Amino acid sequence: MSGRHFLQIPGPTNVPERVRLAMDRAVPDHRGPELPDLTREIVSGLRRVFGSERGEIALFPGSGTAAWEATLVNTLNPGDRVLSFNIGQFSHLFAECARRMGMVVDEVELEWSGGVPASEVEDRLRSDDGHEYRALLVVHNETSTGVTSDIAAIRRAIDAVSHPALLLVDTVSGLGSLDFRFDEWGVDVALTGSQKGLMLPPGMGMVCIGERALRRSEEVTTARYFLDWRPVLNQMHAGYFPYTPATLHLFGLREALRMLQEEGLEQVFARHARLAEAVRRAVPHWGLNIFCRNPSEYSNTLTAVQVPADADSDEVLRAAEQINLSLGTGLGRLKGRIFRIGHLGALNELEVLATLGGVELALHHCGIPIQFGRGVGAAQEFLAAAVRGAPVLAAD
Ligand SMILES: *Cc1c(COP(=O)(O)O)cnc(C)c1O
Repeated sequence: MSGRHFLQIPGPTNVPERVRLAMDRAVPDHRGPELPDLTREIVSGLRRVFGSERGEIALFPGSGTAAWEATLVNTLNPGDRVLSFNIGQFSHLFAECARRMGMVVDEVELEWSGGVPASEVEDRLRSDDGHEYRALLVVHNETSTGVTSDIAAIRRAIDAVSHPALLLVDTVSGLGSLDFRFDEWGVDVALTGSQKGLMLPPGMGMVCIGERALRRSEEVTTARYFLDWRPVLNQMHAGYFPYTPATLHLFGLREALRMLQEEGLEQVFARHARLAEAVRRAVPHWGLNIFCRNPSEYSNTLTAVQVPADADSDEVLRAAEQINLSLGTGLGRLKGRIFRIGHLGALNELEVLATLGGVELALHHCGIPIQFGRGVGAAQEFLAAAVRGAPVLAAD
């Protein structure tokens, strides 16, 4: 097929040319003189994106899943109680990872179409008089449903009952696209992967670690070797790594962080809000519903769209593939019921409009009755107004 492939799944995302070119170079000596400056720039760039002045940054070859495991094995012992909220496939798997590490997980079942309600956090922690919960697992942006949880409100709920549990936050599909305030929100560990908002190929997991979590990692006795962040931090302070790092990814990461910095994080977040709203404006014009039920929890990095009960969303995906467009599938219990449009990372207005045009073709191909151009037109109308400087408001 001619032209480029539209990778509009919610990660991996499209790798911008600048990042690809930065990675297209000879592999350096990872113990050589180039490394310290590279590592230092990455650490300070990632701190800015995490919203942390002094958070410790540890990098691991791997992916978001490795970052889950690193977060858990460094802060918890087998047998420790943790509280988690099942609001989608990723929050469920984060809990499952903890269970496999031997932690005792209370997984609160909630509606998948919403986020983690702060009131629920407060109630659960209030009834834990003995402070048995050692940590809370929260997914900032639930990629299986397109729902963002309010981490600041969750922190306020924890503080309202003065509970000492660590706040461990997965922001794999949020960081670099959505505002994240590690320090201000009192997050203890935030984790991400390379292939979503950070615009790199898959292959790296990153964690930002606060003081309390750092102290905890000195006390826990959980077996860990590769994912032990203590030697990683030790070496990274000098600009090196205790393992062979994914060196070419490091060059790509430095370039991606420079791009975010040049655009300005505020502008990056505003762009994601604008493009996300354009996508959302299209959905009702297809006669379909956005899966997330609360507009204040709409994710600005992806939109999950429900198909009619008698349709199979995987057929929409297959039709989209025919025109060189990849959309996200329904995960877990949402298989066949939704498709997901990724709108994060390196992305602009024209790419969003092309994607929406492609979705219309795919829906039509599957016999879902739509009028061509209605969704695209609604997105264009919104973008035309947004370009003129109108504020970005969630659709009612
Ligand atoms: C993608 C993703 C993960 C898993 O990351 P991998 O890089 O696929 O291992 C975890 N959590 C969330 C919210 C994600 O979007």
